Amino acid sequence: MPSIPDRVLAAADALADEAVAFASSLIRIPTVNPPGELYAECARFIGDTLAASGFETEYHPADGRPEHTRSHPRLNVVGTRRGRRLHPLVHLNGHFDVVPAGGGWTIDPFGGEVRDGRIWGRGSCDMKAGLAAAVFAAEAIRRAGVELNGTLEISGTVDEESGGFAGVAWLAEQQRLSAARTDYVIIPEPLYVDRICIGHRGVYWFEVETCGRIAHGSMPFHGINAVDHMGIVLDRIRRDLQPRLAGRTTAMPVVPDGARHATLNANGIAGGQAVDGIQTPCVADRCRAVFDRRFLIEEGFDAAKGEILELLDGVARDTDDFKYAIRDLMVVHPTRTPEGSPVVTALDRALHRVLGRSGGLVASPGTYDHKHVARIAGVPHCVAYGPGILDLAHQPDEYCDVSDLMSATKVIALAVLELTGTLPEGKPC
Ligand SMILES: [Zn+2]
Repeated sequence: MPSIPDRVLAAADALADEAVAFASSLIRIPTVNPPGELYAECARFIGDTLAASGFETEYHPADGRPEHTRSHPRLNVVGTRRGRRLHPLVHLNGHFDVVPAGGGWTIDPFGGEVRDGRIWGRGSCDMKAGLAAAVFAAEAIRRAGVELNGTLEISGTVDEESGGFAGVAWLAEQQRLSAARTDYVIIPEPLYVDRICIGHRGVYWFEVETCGRIAHGSMPFHGINAVDHMGIVLDRIRRDLQPRLAGRTTAMPVVPDGARHATLNANGIAGGQAVDGIQTPCVADRCRAVFDRRFLIEEGFDAAKGEILELLDGVARDTDDFKYAIRDLMVVHPTRTPEGSPVVTALDRALHRVLGRSGGLVASPGTYDHKHVARIAGVPHCVAYGPGILDLAHQPDEYCDVSDLMSATKVIALAVLELTGTLPEGKPC
């Protein structure tokens, strides 16, 4: 009799066409966010597939969230397949929203085309192939006739691309994902099929407003120009702060290399009169700019914000009549899976078995739903692991290799066997 892992791997090979067809069908449901199109249809489609794979399914609308509206309902789906025991419980989570297609495509972004060994379309890589890997990892285990010693859950959630507040954060706030219930979480985001992603840097979005005084534009010396003052702030950031940030490197394995440093980006700026409108001779009395600061786990939020305040206070000391206000728009703290986490060990072992190698650990340059799992649900043992190349996410002509999808399906299936304690003692896959 072949071993349990061998049976599961053979079952995975046999269902490849179905996994590809499922990913392709998901792409044909254009769940574009914003505004959040066809979420209910997509959640039901995932739910029906989970039900056919022996899962009990529940639907969780994000009641009370302002973005959950009649025209664009926020509907999440969770499937549970209980094994011999409730614990260990492994939860596989994927978001099914996708960013808008944008321009530059040479194929139909929502055609779900399968060609040249690749699945094409918006969301193929980020992350509908990942959802397919999760669902068909579970199906491979079922078809191999293996009953888990623990429980497997799979969720399809909304709005990751816009912060995940009606999705994973919602499930965590409702305790549907919680430390008491959930032992391990794997999020099959596209972070390269041979790597395991252990978290991300922190995010601090803030708005700076410079406040001047209006006067006649022919006599600007009677006013205080807020746009000029913002220019001083931008100049100080470029000459003083950005070089300092570039000199800081995190010990977390953030990819690509440039993102291993602290960064600051100006998202947008507006001041004085609207440039498209009719102009009158006025000194700009107001200017606002929004910034995106990515901070390192070694820096922490307080220091990152303190440095911005220091810079602004420095400008105020050196500049007559400089007045400013600062507003926090969003703070996401850095997240890191604990060292030696069983979820990392299990995936690493499965990678060696399936691919013959492991590319090691990476951390994401951006943020993803890991933060809600760690901070709201309080589940530390969470990673991202899934098919697809990170760099293709949100690009035109996005694709995922079929071979990546099937490798990830197998890796996730083997990791689930190990994490649920389904393999004979002392014989991890
Ligand atoms: Zn994603």
